[in-house]
Amino acid sequence: MPQDVLSDSVRPILLWPDPRLRQKALKIGPKEWETMDTWSEVLENSCLWHKAVGLAAPQIGIPYRMIALDWVSLGLNSNYKLIINPVIQWVSQSRSTQTEGCLSLPKQSWAVMRPTHLHLQWQTPNKRWHEKTFKGFAARCLQHEIDHLDGILLPDHVHDQAFSPAPPINHPVVARWNPQIFPWGWKA
Ligand SMILES: [Zn+2]
Repeated sequence: MPQDVLSDSVRPILLWPDPRLRQKALKIGPKEWETMDTWSEVLENSCLWHKAVGLAAPQIGIPYRMIALDWVSLGLNSNYKLIINPVIQWVSQSRSTQTEGCLSLPKQSWAVMRPTHLHLQWQTPNKRWHEKTFKGFAARCLQHEIDHLDGILLPDHVHDQAFSPAPPINHPVVARWNPQIFPWGWKA
């Protein structure tokens, strides 16, 4: 996409192997709320511009825990437009496998097994906390985007498939390994 068509409020999507895609995003604290209006606008506009179902802030170079969703096509209301500081409270035992793609890894797809339900707490730009159990496509999409906040990319879920460009070794996310979510282990 030509750079000149992007306004200041729309940013290009970072592509692998940009190292920013591997960083663990920071929680949005009191200081960061001051810049929230700008970030919200940029993230929402970029999500729309790139026709993404979901877009995580690190994908456009904002290293904070914030996700924009195409809440209309996910069948949600506007409380789900911007998901700030999401915390997964629990995931279901039931799993399903579906093919996923990612705008940061264009023209590729991977079959990814994920829990079918998750219970999430998050903040909206007015600082209010919300919580809800998500299922189906919304649950999958949220897990994909929350992965981005932790520097996890789709091929990290595939235990038997080589992903030569991705170096998970020394990656900080290894430390927050959750065997309940990723029972097959981290491919190093
Ligand atoms: Zn993605």
